[in-house]
Amino acid sequence: MKKIDILIVGQGLAGSVLSYLAQKRGLSIMVIDIPLSGRASYVAGGMFNPVTGRRVKKSWNYDIFYSKMVETYQELDILLGIKAFHLTPIHRLLSTVEDVNNWEIQRLEDDYHSYMGQSVKVDDERLIQHEGVGILNKGGWLDMVKFLSAFRVFLQENQQLVEEKFDYSQLRNNQYKDLFFDKIIFCEGYRVMENPFFSDIQLWSTKGETITIELEGEDFDFILNKNMLIVPLGNGKYKVGATLERNIDIDITSHGLEELKEKVESVIKVPFRVIDQEAGIRPNVRDRKPLIGVSKEIDNYYIFNGLGSKGVSLAPYFAEHLLSFIYEGKELQKDVNWQRIFK
Ligand SMILES: Cc1cc2nc3c(=O)[nH]c(=O)nc-3n(C[C@H](O)[C@H](O)[C@H](O)COP(=O)(O)OP(=O)(O)OC[C@H]3O[C@@H](n4cnc5c(N)ncnc54)[C@H](O)[C@@H]3O)c2cc1C
Repeated sequence: MKKIDILIVGQGLAGSVLSYLAQKRGLSIMVIDIPLSGRASYVAGGMFNPVTGRRVKKSWNYDIFYSKMVETYQELDILLGIKAFHLTPIHRLLSTVEDVNNWEIQRLEDDYHSYMGQSVKVDDERLIQHEGVGILNKGGWLDMVKFLSAFRVFLQENQQLVEEKFDYSQLRNNQYKDLFFDKIIFCEGYRVMENPFFSDIQLWSTKGETITIELEGEDFDFILNKNMLIVPLGNGKYKVGATLERNIDIDITSHGLEELKEKVESVIKVPFRVIDQEAGIRPNVRDRKPLIGVSKEIDNYYIFNGLGSKGVSLAPYFAEHLLSFIYEGKELQKDVNWQRIFK
């Protein structure tokens, strides 16, 4: 019989970041995970972006999340001996003179000046002509596959991973099969819908598809952004994403492929080759805020979910927030407490 402080269900982005931060506090953990179809983390482009949307609005509480994000992923890179976290400038393509003017006005505002750099002329012959490019600072991307695969090996080497589908019917108070735990934290992404202990939760999950393309010539050393993102993976490969559909069908589609190819063609002049296509389900919530907190019935069962489309920037801050709630008795932010959402 093994006894641990926390049993974590799911090793996507949520479960991985939580596992790391729990261990950093000196807590013992065990993770149960099996790769299930539709998982979001292995499909995502992994971009974090200080401003988003057509109207260029600052991402919710980005200033607060940013420092925790940089600290956590840089520590993880060192722990795992990899380079998965990249602070990379984002080049936002501006189509019209009006877009350029708006950019120049907005970047002088207090809230924006540390993120929005000057707009410049597009002088890259591989790109379709645009009026300008607005350069965004404090953005970048996390190579999700590299990070999650390396973290999985780390867990395996430390005998902290059980590779099986979690069977909810085997859970008895503080015991799961031959494991005894003090707390259990569920991080199953959109599959929380199968969890009988949080059956009140109704996610607003969205399907997303991405493609990986190959381009000839010198690599871009920036992320291209224009109603989509093109992230440089290195060696001439780029991740392009993402589509958005309000369903949880996990198959890749021909319409998803066409949409993404058209987006690339609206930005890049040189020929490209699609070498991969994937689909995943974002664990979205209608109000676009995470879902964390304790079960209504069982006081040592917790949830860490609802990372939606911004998992990379949200996960470190809210994993720490949940641990402070559990272990330091800190109050949970009302706007992320899962109990705000009922079916
Ligand atoms: C197409 C797409 C593009 C995206 N792009 C970005 C982006 O650029 N930037 C960004 O920040 N975010 C992005 N996201 C969102 C991001 O991927 C998610 O917020 C994040 O990955 C969610 O992580 P998670 O761990 O909650 O869920 P998941 O990644 O789904 O992980 C859940 C894990 O739990 C396992 N699991 C579930 N149930 C069980 C069970 N019963 N037993 C055992 N294991 C189980 C699953 O197999 C999986 O490994 C994107 C998402 C998609 C789909």
